[in-house]
Amino acid sequence: MKKFRDPRLNRIVGYVILFSGFGILAFGSSFRTEADPYNWKFVLLFLVSMTFVVYSVIWMVKTVRCPHCKRLLHLKLYNIDYCPWCKYPTDPDDPVYR
Ligand SMILES: [Zn+2]
Repeated sequence: MKKFRDPRLNRIVGYVILFSGFGILAFGSSFRTEADPYNWKFVLLFLVSMTFVVYSVIWMVKTVRCPHCKRLLHLKLYNIDYCPWCKYPTDPDDPVYR
């Protein structure tokens, strides 16, 4: 997947992957029945959704980093316009880098 230079965009991408995983899980749960709660459709979609969830975390840990000091930024919905570590703006196009 394409990695953006801006960590804020990478975090949004990570959340899209995460909630895609939740959506797949909800869709897979619709195949559960009283008689056969662990049928192959549910199990398959459950495994696919867990792959999405795990991958979204790996993606965010690898890409949601300050372009200045490379340290990990908040993965929750805190404001990360400024790096909490070095206080520089996290926008890679900010004039502070020129
Ligand atoms: Zn920083």
